[in-house]
Parts: sequence; C-alpha cells; structure tokens
Amino acid sequence: MLLQTERSLGLESVPWKLASNLSPDKPAPIAPPRRLQPAVMPARPAPVPAPARPAPVTLAAATVPPAPRRVAPRKPVHTAIENMPVQTGAPLPLPQRISVLESLDVTHVRTCTKCILSQTRKNTVFGDGAPDAELMFIGEGPGEDEDETGHPFVGRSGQLLGKMIAAMGLTREQVYIANIVKCRPPGNRTPASDEVAACVPYLLQQIETIRPRVIVTLGLPSTQYILGTDRPMRDLRGVWHEWRGVKVMPTYHPSYVLRSYTPEVRGCVWGDLQRVMQELGLPTASREFTR
Ligand code: URA
Repeated sequence: MLLQTERSLGLESVPWKLASNLSPDKPAPIAPPRRLQPAVMPARPAPVPAPARPAPVTLAAATVPPAPRRVAPRKPVHTAIENMPVQTGAPLPLPQRISVLESLDVTHVRTCTKCILSQTRKNTVFGDGAPDAELMFIGEGPGEDEDETGHPFVGRSGQLLGKMIAAMGLTREQVYIANIVKCRPPGNRTPASDEVAACVPYLLQQIETIRPRVIVTLGLPSTQYILGTDRPMRDLRGVWHEWRGVKVMPTYHPSYVLRSYTPEVRGCVWGDLQRVMQELGLPTASREFTR
C-alpha cells in the first residue's frame, strides 16, 4: 500500500523509505556519496535534561543590566543548504532515480509558486543529464534562452559550458547540469536569498538522488550557497572544498569567462576542470576549451 506522502509526490514506484524524504516542504535530507557512507546509522543522542528554572528575581535584587554594546551587523552568510539535515541511505537504483527526478520535476517544480519568480517565468528549468552522473555542474539560474526552452545552459554561456565539458572528454549527457533556482530572475539579476531558500530544497533532492562524486559550482552565487560562505570567488576557486562528503570545485561562471575572455581567466577555469578530471580518473591530456 502507498503512503499518502508517496501519492502526493506521485512516486507510485518509489519505496516508502525514499518517498518519506521527498516532500519539498520538508528540508531535503542529503546523503553522503557511496564511498563515504557510514555502515550504520549513528545512535540517537541521549535526551538533554531540561535546565533548572532560574530563581525568580525580586525587584530589590534586580540590578540594571549594562547597555548592550553596539555590534556592527554581520553580513548575511549563505547557509541555505549547509543547515539542512543529512540523510544516510543507499543510493537508488537507476530506474528509481529516473522516476524520482521525473516526479520531482513534474509534480513539484513545474507547479511551484513558492516565490515571485514563478510569476514571470515562461518555463521552469529543472536540470538535464544523467541521473547517475559522477559530475554535476551547478549554475545560478535560467536566463532568457533557458526560460524559453526549459533546459539549463542552452544560451551563449551554455554553448561555452558544452565546450568545457567536451574538453574534459565528456558529453552533456554524461554529466548533470542544474541551477540553484529553477525560474528565471527578471533581467537575469542574481536570485534573491528568499528565492534561493525557497528553491534549494529541489536542488538538494536532485543531489541526493544523483549522488555525484564531484560538484563544480559555476560562479559566485552557487558557490556561496553550496559552501555557506560569503567569501569572494578568488578565495574559493581552484581548491577543493567538501560538502557532506561530496568534493566541490568552484570555478568561474561561463558567462564571466565570455565577458573576460583572457588567457588568464581561461587558464584558471581549465586548471579547475583538470583538477576535477584528475579526481574522476579522466585522462587529463585533452585540449583546453575555446569559445
Ligand atoms: N546561467 C546559469 O547560471 N544557468 C543557466 O542555466 C544559464 C545561464
């Protein structure tokens, strides 16, 4: 018999264990990749005893507290993804990955009205590629061409991303490509943090289902949201980061590469991609990409 959550997700063929983790209204749980998966679930922590009630303060005993020191407001740190709970569990077999992604797209993303981007979109842009890809690229959000077609990275920056992938000796069909938001921000502005917060549960479910070994974040917004940092790109790209057992390599966004098409910028990106190729055991002798 199917549980209600399974039905509401349209997951007729998905086992209950998985379906119970898939409501986008619930923060999406993320599992570490196969290789780093713990063998057993950690024991539940012992309940913490309630703190003793403080003794009531009498007027006579009360002292005037010192005025709080004024502290400069901190810049917000992007923690949307990093705070979400971790799930352990075996990766899904391929047919179930396909049906989970399909139902997430059809039943949830295409009908989503959680933020104002839904009011101006033509199409949602869920993501494309292999449901068992070892390599996942995460961009910022759909642009005009993507909004028209419903597919990620099909415009000018998408053409360049395709060439970057080809230079790695791969095809677009062998990797997975998604964005941190599924609807086009008007005028291609950077997505606002409430829009990202509303949308990242879908991305998390994609990552949880696909279980890539490596994520390449393209540009600052996706890098900052995945890594939960507000550090600049120059501090983040070119070195490995880890997010829940998945290796993360931030690199420049293809649209930035197109705008700053210099040997230095191209060399940085190619160096980042070669690190990824090495990690995935791909031959690194392939030729550098050009536009
Ligand atoms: N830029 C992105 O970040 N994503 C797309 O899908 C297209 C352009």
